[in-house]
Amino acid sequence: MEMNKKERLVAAIENGTVIDHIPAEKTFQVVNLLGLQSLSTPVTIGYNFSSSKVGCKGIIKVSDKFFTDDEISRLSVVAPNIILNIIRDYEVVEKKEVITPDELSGIVKCNNPKCITNNEPMSTIFNVVNKSRGILKCHYCDKEQQMDKVELC
Ligand SMILES: [Zn+2]
Repeated sequence: MEMNKKERLVAAIENGTVIDHIPAEKTFQVVNLLGLQSLSTPVTIGYNFSSSKVGCKGIIKVSDKFFTDDEISRLSVVAPNIILNIIRDYEVVEKKEVITPDELSGIVKCNNPKCITNNEPMSTIFNVVNKSRGILKCHYCDKEQQMDKVELC
């Protein structure tokens, strides 16, 4: 009985994507990065579930939506360890991990106040110069910054 209740908490969707192991406090950043507010398909957002992996986690279920690798790579700045379960006909057919891209475009702000991207209406571009240590380098001013401390655009 108890098990059934738990299973219902993360109830299945027929087709779509279940984003799991999101650190709970990052749940809404994931919503923003994937632009889930503007989808017309059903989206279920849950957070503060207990998790052995991340302490307290968020889960997002998106029906009838499959994200591109490019969209998924955007998540590397907020939640590099999350897993996307691809669901078809109620079954998990694939699990995707977030892969840190070589370049981040228009996702994070430069922390150099003098950088042109903070003074002109333009998109930021960062090169990921060290993936394991999470170091980004601004394409315009060359300032390096730590991936887990950046501010999102
Ligand atoms: Zn810059």
